Amino acid sequence: MHNIVLFGPPGAGKGTQSQKLIAKYHLVHLSTGDLLRAQIAEGTDLGLQAKKLMDEGFLVPDAVVIGMIGSALEKNKQAAGFIFDGFPRTVAQAESLDRLLAEHNTSVACMVALEVGEQELVKRLLERGKTSGRPDDQDEAKISRRVQVYNTETAQVAGYYASQQKFYSLNGIGEIESIFAQISDLIDQHKPAETAAAAATREVKA
Ligand code: ADP
Repeated sequence: MHNIVLFGPPGAGKGTQSQKLIAKYHLVHLSTGDLLRAQIAEGTDLGLQAKKLMDEGFLVPDAVVIGMIGSALEKNKQAAGFIFDGFPRTVAQAESLDRLLAEHNTSVACMVALEVGEQELVKRLLERGKTSGRPDDQDEAKISRRVQVYNTETAQVAGYYASQQKFYSLNGIGEIESIFAQISDLIDQHKPAETAAAAATREVKA
């Protein structure tokens, strides 16, 4: 499996780039933000609990998102790989992701971070708020809290992957296509080595 973590503060462009990457690489997109918003739309207990935290710009508990990712991995055993978007957001989540992927005999190939300064993030999120309908995009105080949570709780996840030599950082300001090309290059450079079992299957089929 070819597993990529897209990283960066809220508004960095992870969602936009994910859509382009899915089309190119046929990977399964796992956005914990999207999964949580689906729970809210369905009106589940989990959704109701998460909504209070999300609307204010706080993180939902690690156990909740780790559980969601665990079941998504179970449901997609045949996937060519995954794009993780908005996850992991804490070091505890990163450790759990390693453990979950190891249970499926796979691992993170690389993390690609999109760097964007706070002023630009606030501008982009307020703009998105005009059409996204997301309460957390519509108020500058909530946006600032999300950036602050990113700086205090999430940014250190970069160090976790750097210590595994899997961390890469790109400028998230520029042409969408140019950023996409740079991410694609990194992904291409980090194709996982084919396992002996997969190679044997390929030979039998050929
Ligand atoms: P953005 O990329 O704009 O921050 P997301 O859709 O990724 O938006 O996340 C929206 C909100 O959902 C976050 O502010 C947080 O409350 C919650 N959330 C999403 N992913 C996680 C996660 N991995 N851990 C904890 N909370 C999360």
